Amino acid sequence: MSNITANLEKVKRNIRQAAERVNRDPSEVTLIAVTKTVPVEKIREAILAGVLIFGENRVLEAREKIEVIDSKAVKWHMIGHLQTNKVKYIFSLFDLIHSVDSLALAHEIDRRAQVDKKKADILVQVNVSGEKTKFGVSKESAVELIKDISRLSNISIKGLMTIPPFSDNPEGSRGFFKELFFIRERVESLGIENVSMRELSMGMSNDYEIAVEEGATMVRVGTAIFGERNINYAKK
Ligand SMILES: *Cc1c(COP(=O)(O)O)cnc(C)c1O
Repeated sequence: MSNITANLEKVKRNIRQAAERVNRDPSEVTLIAVTKTVPVEKIREAILAGVLIFGENRVLEAREKIEVIDSKAVKWHMIGHLQTNKVKYIFSLFDLIHSVDSLALAHEIDRRAQVDKKKADILVQVNVSGEKTKFGVSKESAVELIKDISRLSNISIKGLMTIPPFSDNPEGSRGFFKELFFIRERVESLGIENVSMRELSMGMSNDYEIAVEEGATMVRVGTAIFGERNINYAKK
């Protein structure tokens, strides 16, 4: 068994066990294999090992790989910060954008969706920790942003995403995951038209088990599947 196959089995087992610890159905949790800086050969290996959804954080890097891999069997999600000038590419590449955090970006996605005659599925990224270096709408402004985006007719909000501050101790993320869960409940209680809060995208290699315990429906796992990233990838 290759490393990727073995790692994948382990991650899936951990997700299952985390779900069972809190009496959740493990099938509620979708694994997104994060392939930023991961070369095409390894992505092919992951496809053979059964990965169905990949996450990328840079549009042009993703486009290159998606074109080369050219598989109808897998889906791609955009999980990184999205620049307005890259929005024109997203409909042909991605099934879900995890990282919408401003009305300006949402407007551009809506405009472009209309041109492409598509409906854009998105998650709203919330900066629950308030760290200045993180993208995401503040938790104080999240509800208002969601209401504003809900009025755009070519966008469907499917849920929320967050990236907590990095901590060596995965337990450090738990409070931030709980906060995202609370925001979701608050939004749900408002019953905003055109807004679903089905998805909670939270948890990465170091803390996905905690995220599953706290209600994640999507975990974004890179290193635990593919090993340490090649930091020189972008320069090649
Ligand atoms: C890179 C990245 C991940 C995966 O990180 P790992 O620690 O390698 O699992 C998840 N989410 C986002 C937004 C990322 O950029």
